[in-house]
Amino acid sequence: MNSAKLLSFLFYILITLSIFSCQSTQNKYSSEKLHNYAHLMPKAVLHVHLEGSILPATIIKLAQKNNVKMPFKNEAEFKALCNYSSFEQFVTLFKQIISCLKTPEDYETIAYEYGRECSKQNILYSEVVFSLSTNCKLSGIDWQTLLQRINKGRARAQREFGVTWNWIFDLTRTNLFGPEKFVDILIQSRDTGQGLVAMGLSETLVTYKVAEYQHVFDKAISAKLPIIPHAGEFQGPVSVINSLKACQASRIHHGVRSIEDQTLVQELAKRQIPLDICVSSNVKLGVVANYKQHPIRRLWDAGLLITIGADDPSLFDSNVNQEYDHLIDDYKFTIDELERVSLNGLQAGLLPTQEKELLIQKFKSEFIRLRKNIF
Ligand SMILES: [Zn+2]
Repeated sequence: MNSAKLLSFLFYILITLSIFSCQSTQNKYSSEKLHNYAHLMPKAVLHVHLEGSILPATIIKLAQKNNVKMPFKNEAEFKALCNYSSFEQFVTLFKQIISCLKTPEDYETIAYEYGRECSKQNILYSEVVFSLSTNCKLSGIDWQTLLQRINKGRARAQREFGVTWNWIFDLTRTNLFGPEKFVDILIQSRDTGQGLVAMGLSETLVTYKVAEYQHVFDKAISAKLPIIPHAGEFQGPVSVINSLKACQASRIHHGVRSIEDQTLVQELAKRQIPLDICVSSNVKLGVVANYKQHPIRRLWDAGLLITIGADDPSLFDSNVNQEYDHLIDDYKFTIDELERVSLNGLQAGLLPTQEKELLIQKFKSEFIRLRKNIF
């Protein structure tokens, strides 16, 4: 090789190395910026439980205050318990958390702190599941007082942080009030402006007890009270199919195992029935083997309307921003798709049309402002 050729070869190597270096830096920054953007963007969340959102530090503080003996003494021990080998183990911990709540003030505190956490993650609107019956049973407080106090915490959070949410109370088989009375309570709560927008259902109920509860579903349907069941989680597609038929479900919490039935996937896509998906919950409860195998990308690509929630963030050691991180890292969601997911939360939300339109405009303006600032 003569000296001219050697020089041109070295020049080529240098240019190639610099291009690769630029690309890797650019990719690194792009990824960082995308995560940053996802954390800062306004979000709407439709699948989260109030009890599962109580911060571990607050659980410990309330247990000490109320002299409730818990199987953990500090946050590290609590986190160690959040590795589940069965759903029952998860439910046991969920009920232990509720058993720490003893006074009306405790309920105001957890609602207020929920709003504070929303604000930290730029969650401007949410629909929050609350197990009214279980809380009344374990605390001994009547439902009217509980509702009043969680709403007091909600109003305080709204004033201080500018976040807002509505309630979904879930009907379980062991309901304290009886299913018919429970529907009456929900209708009353909705009609008196207490923020109740829908009835939730446990998946076992919508899998095994459909015939027994059909008259209860019909009562809610005739009162135009939307039903949003947990389905398509442990029991497979059958609970989603039942939800659509028996409950006229307007939305499904989870629904991820619909992927096992392509006819159902097509129906969900055609009717744009929203699935409120919580990826970490599905992984940590063993509904899917790991993050890579989660069907969210396939459901999205099939044209389903998907929103993202965190289910029980404290019990899965996650939060909504971390769920968006998974969308970026594990399922390669683009910035446009992330914005769509967030807007889906408003589109599928049960808030008044005018309020919804105002929030959609607010989200879109904020997207434009953030894009300019970050990219
Ligand atoms: Zn849930």
